[in-house]
Amino acid sequence: MKLSDIVVNAPRTELLYFKDSYLKEFQAKVLRAVKEQGRSWYLILDQSAFHPKGGGQPSDTGKLLFLVGSAQVKKAIFESGVVVHYIKLDTDNPPEVGAPVRGIVDWEPRYKYMRRHTAAHLFDHCINQATGRTYRTMGSWLGEPKPYVDYAGEPPSLEVITQAQGLANTYVEEALSVNIDFLDKSKIHNVSDAPNIERLPENDVYRVVRINGFESIPCGGTHVKATSEIGGIKTLGVEAVNGGFRVYFDVEDGPSSKNP
Ligand SMILES: [Zn+2]
Repeated sequence: MKLSDIVVNAPRTELLYFKDSYLKEFQAKVLRAVKEQGRSWYLILDQSAFHPKGGGQPSDTGKLLFLVGSAQVKKAIFESGVVVHYIKLDTDNPPEVGAPVRGIVDWEPRYKYMRRHTAAHLFDHCINQATGRTYRTMGSWLGEPKPYVDYAGEPPSLEVITQAQGLANTYVEEALSVNIDFLDKSKIHNVSDAPNIERLPENDVYRVVRINGFESIPCGGTHVKATSEIGGIKTLGVEAVNGGFRVYFDVEDGPSSKNP
């Protein structure tokens, strides 16, 4: 079954995590239910807090509670502006179109992705600050087993990577606020320090993340609200990749990185 067939003529999903990354539970309406096989279904809701896989961030998982019965959300997939929830029902009752549903995001993995995602933005800034040049990010992975960020160009020395890690951990201690802004198309092109704008699809409104005092980065992912919640950043190795280099890293627990 093709996802493009499942979402045909479906309205764009209201992305609840765009405005509140800390939303763990939400209420929605079932707009479409397509059976795959057995108890496995594809479900489209009017709004969702489930972050689909994308931008280096893994898919959220969780639970859906229907008026009758419940389901496990195995993954969320983004297709043509629509979040498709791939679910496995706990009973044989089929999901009812038009009915209300309650969604619950598996918070522990999601919060870790938020910490890693914010850590990756922070490290991007710090590797530039440590070297005095601008490394273009090529991609990232924020899930298991080994999170990383890829940069274009020749790798700096390990000494510089360690220096960038030290800077990042200083900013973690400073508890800088992490802000989300929504800018329209005309304004985004005035944000001249947004390094990844050419990699994004053309939009009318851009969501921009900005660690206080740093550059603005257009990004649709979920972030923590202060750098202190990252806890700590540890780099775990550097290797060459096609056209650049990969920095493996992870977050460490700290006094402010407890699950809120
Ligand atoms: Zn981001």
